[in-house]
Amino acid sequence: MEEISEEKQVEQKYDELIEACRSNQPLSPEDESNIFRAFNIARNAHADTRRKSGELYIFHPLAVALIAVKEVGLGPIAAICALLHDVVEDTDVSLDNLRAIFGNRVARIVDGVTKIDKATMIAEQNDNFSSQAENYRKILLAMCDDAYVIFLKLCDRLHNMRTLGSMKDTKKLAISSETQYLYIPLAHRLGLYSIKTELDDLVMQYTNPEKYAEISGKIADTAGTEIKLKECFTKPIKNMLDAGGFRYTIKTRVKSVYSCWKKMQNKGVSFDEIFDLYAMRIILDVPQAEGMPTEEAKRLEAEECFKVYTLITGQFAPEPSRLRDWIRNPKNNGYESLHTTVMTPIGRWVEVQIRTTRMDRIAEKGIAAHFLYKEAHPNEVVKQSPVEEWLGQIRTSLEDPNKNALDLVEEFKESLYTKEIYIFTPKGETIKMPSRSTVLDFAYAIHSQLGDHCIGAKVNARVVPIGYRLHSGEQVQILTSQKTYPSEQWLDEAQTQRAREHIKDYIRTRKKDRREEGEEKLKQFLDNEHIELTTERIARLKRYFSIDSDIDLYYKIATGEIGSEDLKQCFHLAKSSPELLFLRPLDDISTPTTSPFLTDIAHEGFETQPATCCKPVQGDRVIGIVTDGKIMVHRTNCPNAIHEMAAHEDRIVRTRWRTGEKIAFLTGVTITAIDRKGLLQEITRVISDDMNLNMRAITLEASEGLGQGLIMLYVHNLSDLDRLIERLRAIDGVEKVQRV
Ligand code: MN
Repeated sequence: MEEISEEKQVEQKYDELIEACRSNQPLSPEDESNIFRAFNIARNAHADTRRKSGELYIFHPLAVALIAVKEVGLGPIAAICALLHDVVEDTDVSLDNLRAIFGNRVARIVDGVTKIDKATMIAEQNDNFSSQAENYRKILLAMCDDAYVIFLKLCDRLHNMRTLGSMKDTKKLAISSETQYLYIPLAHRLGLYSIKTELDDLVMQYTNPEKYAEISGKIADTAGTEIKLKECFTKPIKNMLDAGGFRYTIKTRVKSVYSCWKKMQNKGVSFDEIFDLYAMRIILDVPQAEGMPTEEAKRLEAEECFKVYTLITGQFAPEPSRLRDWIRNPKNNGYESLHTTVMTPIGRWVEVQIRTTRMDRIAEKGIAAHFLYKEAHPNEVVKQSPVEEWLGQIRTSLEDPNKNALDLVEEFKESLYTKEIYIFTPKGETIKMPSRSTVLDFAYAIHSQLGDHCIGAKVNARVVPIGYRLHSGEQVQILTSQKTYPSEQWLDEAQTQRAREHIKDYIRTRKKDRREEGEEKLKQFLDNEHIELTTERIARLKRYFSIDSDIDLYYKIATGEIGSEDLKQCFHLAKSSPELLFLRPLDDISTPTTSPFLTDIAHEGFETQPATCCKPVQGDRVIGIVTDGKIMVHRTNCPNAIHEMAAHEDRIVRTRWRTGEKIAFLTGVTITAIDRKGLLQEITRVISDDMNLNMRAITLEASEGLGQGLIMLYVHNLSDLDRLIERLRAIDGVEKVQRV
C-alpha cells in the first residue's frame, strides 16, 4: 500500500533529521522532545496537503529542516522553526499556539518567515516597481529581525528551487528571478557558498536551459582530463605530503556550470580557456595546535599551510597574480584559506586551496558555528557575529522613515556586495573596511572619539581631508582636533553605516543640548541692539542663513557658527562687509623714515632697501648688495643674493640691523591646512588679536578639502615672525606654515 510506505518515508526523514542534529552537537532530551513536537504539529497540520509534485507536504518542512541542520550546520531551534515554517500561513495553527508551546523566539522566527511569504505574494501580484520595493522593504525588515529568518528562508528557497520541476514555466521564471535578485546575494553575504553555488546553477537551469545543457555536456567530456590529472598531479602531491609527514585530506572539484558560464562571459573566453576548471583543496590536520592559545595556534596553522604552499609551488609553477592569502587577511565572514593556481604537467591550470581543518570548518559552517554555540549556551553573553552586526545596521537603515523604499532596497543590495579594502594603522595593524570608505569612516571604525574629532589624515605621509577615499594597502594616521565636532556636511563624507549613525547621533544630542544656549545668545544680541524678538525675525534669520528648523538655527548660534557679526549682517547693522576684512591695504603703516640698516663706513650715505625677493625682517642675518646705486638688503640665504654674491664679489656690503627701531617689515607666510569652517577666522584672530600684527593681505584657497593660503603681513622682527609661525602651526587643521 502506497500510503504506508509514504508514512515510513516520513519517519525515515525524521530519523535522518535527528541524526543530523546529533552529529552537529549533543542533543538534550528537551531539544529532542521539542523537535518531535514540532514534527508532529507540522505533520498533523499539513496532513491533507500535497505539493504540486504529488508528495505529502510534510516532506517539504522536513527537507528544509535537513538543509538547515546538515548543509548550513544550525541547531535544534532551526530544526524546530524549519518544521513549523509553513504552518501559520497554510494551516489553522496560530502564532500564539506556537508561542505557548515553544516560546517567544521560535514564534518570532516563524512569524518572520510567514511575513516574508505574504509580502512576496503581494509583490508577485503587483507590477508597479515602487510598491514592489515597498514589499521588499517589508521582506528585508522581517529578515533582519533574526538571522535565523534569513537562514530558514534560504533553506526554504533552496528546497523549492530543487523541486521547481513540477511548476509552470512562468512560475519557474518568477521564482528563479527572485532567487537571483535576493537570495543568491544573501547566501553570498552570509558565506553560505555551497548553497549559493547550487542556487546559481539551479537558476541557470531554469532561465537558460540550452546554455546549461551545453556547458554541462562539455564538463562531462573532460572526464578523461580529470583522470590524467589524478595521475600526474594529485598523486605526486600526495607523495610529497606523505614524505613531509603531513596529515591531510584532499578534495577535488570541477567548477560548477554556472561559474564556468560566468567566467566565459566576464572574461570573454571559450570553455577550453577556463584555467581553473579544476580545483584541489588540501585540508591539513594540525593536532599540535589544539589546546594552544588561539594566537599561537593560528600562527602554527598558518606556518603549516605555507609549508605546503612552498612544497607544491616548488614542484608546480604558480601563477603569481593568483595568490590569495586569506590566512593573514581573513574575509569579513571569517573565511581563512590560502589560494594559489599552479600549472600541471598536462598544461592545465589548477587552483589549489590550502587550509586547516579548523579553517575548513569555518569556511563550510563558519557562521552557523557561532549560532550553534549560542543555541547551546543560551545564558552566555556572546559577542555579535559580523552577520548580526550587519543585520543590525540594515535594520536601522530600513526603519528610517525618511528613506524611500527603492533607495533602501538598493542600499541593501549594495551592502550585500561590498568588497573590502585593507588599511594599515600607523602601528602596522590591518583594519578591514568596505571599499569606498573614507578617512572619516576609518576614524569611526577605530573609535567614535577619533571619528568625532577627525580633521583629516596622513595617508602614506600625505595630508588628506576627511572625505578622502581610501585604497587598499594605505597607511592611515588620523589627525584630530578637540575643537572639531561632527557636522551635517560630514554625512556627505562618510560612507559606512557605522560612521553615519555616529555622526547623526552626535548632531542630534548636540543640537538638543545647546538649544537653550543659542536662544539665550540670540536674546542677548537682540537686547543689546534694542531689537525685539518676533517670529518674523526668527523666520528672517532662517531665511538669511538658509536654515530649515529653529533647532538648527539656535544650534549654529550656540556654536558661534553664526556669530554676532553674522547676525548684524542679517539685520543690516554691520558697518563693513566681511570680505574687506581680508584684503585691506594698510596704507597707514609707518614706512621707515630712517634706514633700519647700518652699513660699513665705505657705503654710508647709500640708500638701503629691504629686498623684495626675500623680505628680511629684523633679526634675520642680512647682507647688502649694491644694485643700481642702492644697497638692496637680502637675507644671507636668499638664492638671489647667493647668486649675486658669487658673480659680483665687489658689490657685497656688510650690513646689519639698526637696533632699537620699531619698524614694521612686510613679510609673508604660506599656510597649508585642512579646510574647515572657521579656519580663516581663526588665522586672522591669531594674527590680529593674539599677535597684534597688521595684515596686508590674506588669501585662502580650498580645493578637495585642503586649504592653501598666503598671508602678507607686517612684523617688527624675526622673533615676532617665529612666534607667529608657531602660533599658526598650533591652529587645529594647520599642517604647514612656511615663511615665503
Ligand atoms: Mn516553505
